[in-house]
Amino acid sequence: MRCYKLSTNVQTAEAKKTTGQHPKDNPQEEFKLILKEAVDILGYSEEVYDFLKEPMRFLEVNIPVKMDNGQTQVFKGYRAQHNDANGPTKGGIRFHPDVTADEVKALAGWMSLKCGITGLPYGGAKGGIICEPRSMSMNELERLSRGYVRAVSQLVGPTKDIPAPDMYTNSQIMAWMLDEYDHIREFDSPGFITGKPLVLGGSEGRETATSKGVLYTLQMVSELKGMPLEGMKVIVQGFGNVGGYLAYYLHELGVKVVGISDALGAIYDPEGLNIPDLLSRRDSYGIVTAQFENVITNEALIEQECDVLIPAAVGGVITTENADRLKCKFVVEAANGPTTRDAIQMLDERGVLVVPDILANSGGVIVSYFEWCQNNQGYYWTKELVEERLKEKIHASFLNVQNTAEQFGINMKTAAYVEGIRKIAEASGLRGWIN
Ligand code: GLU
Repeated sequence: MRCYKLSTNVQTAEAKKTTGQHPKDNPQEEFKLILKEAVDILGYSEEVYDFLKEPMRFLEVNIPVKMDNGQTQVFKGYRAQHNDANGPTKGGIRFHPDVTADEVKALAGWMSLKCGITGLPYGGAKGGIICEPRSMSMNELERLSRGYVRAVSQLVGPTKDIPAPDMYTNSQIMAWMLDEYDHIREFDSPGFITGKPLVLGGSEGRETATSKGVLYTLQMVSELKGMPLEGMKVIVQGFGNVGGYLAYYLHELGVKVVGISDALGAIYDPEGLNIPDLLSRRDSYGIVTAQFENVITNEALIEQECDVLIPAAVGGVITTENADRLKCKFVVEAANGPTTRDAIQMLDERGVLVVPDILANSGGVIVSYFEWCQNNQGYYWTKELVEERLKEKIHASFLNVQNTAEQFGINMKTAAYVEGIRKIAEASGLRGWIN
């Protein structure tokens, strides 16, 4: 049996406790707060806010799964479709014990904003299943994945809503989901899901797309601030799919990666870490720190000295409780929602630039879009072409958000919301849904 290698850009519930997430930081409330600010800045009416603050559709499902011990376990799952005025909705599916309805709703809203900022012909969606994939067998995961697709099959489809990987889901899970969907629909529809294995119609460069996007964003920051990447000190919190590749690319470019972390802890060395060595020592869950003695907590890592802090794991790790203690010059958000709104304001006041998640980590959905285009064309691109087009999109989006921030005198987070909702609101207005 093949070994199920988890997409390890995640941390366990236990680790989350050590990374400083506070239950009061409800991501959906965060989404609504900044959305309201952006709506007011654009001079849109209250009805625009009322319409965009919640997903247009939200489905809760209960999925019965025959476990290996013969008993049936019921898993709760969700799919949120935020807005489909610009085209089909798009967004990943996460498998995680801490998934909540509000988290899925917020993540769907953020996907709409990402698609708006980057000019993709999509609205946002997100799915999630409450489960602990690390304690499930491959067969149980396959049955859960197929069960989820059966449960949401009426709502999804290549021209309706296109899922993708997210926390703890990977190309193998996408393959099972695609197969289940093809069985239900009785035809081959590779464009139903993205992040697939190459042989099933996946795209070159999809697996590394999010980390490449973060890298291109950091390159923009370095140009903007006149601070060369070479010798720059960077902490990457999270050493899974996103954090691991990112640390590697940074190391290759001569950046000093001084800190990394996994679900169990973090290591920090102001002289720089040997990233290729650390990557080669990761186990199949992405754990490497267990092999070291001077391990610190994820929470402590965030407060260490560096030029750039890149949270690339879970949400809610930079809050009003630790924002004052950060010693970085910039934060580049690779995870979804790692910094709370109030923490961003505190960092702003201290002159610490926060490059928002919905811009910095949009590489994943951008290359998912390229994958979908290739599936629709039946013609496949080279990795070079994928990465060149990804870079173009990230550069253009970064400049737009930055110009908006300057034009309105607002931070990049709020500017990203402003850029993100313009297209959604315009399309919704033209369709006659709002004034
Ligand atoms: N899950 C990724 C995200 O949060 C990718 C979504 C996609 O490719 O559709 O952006």
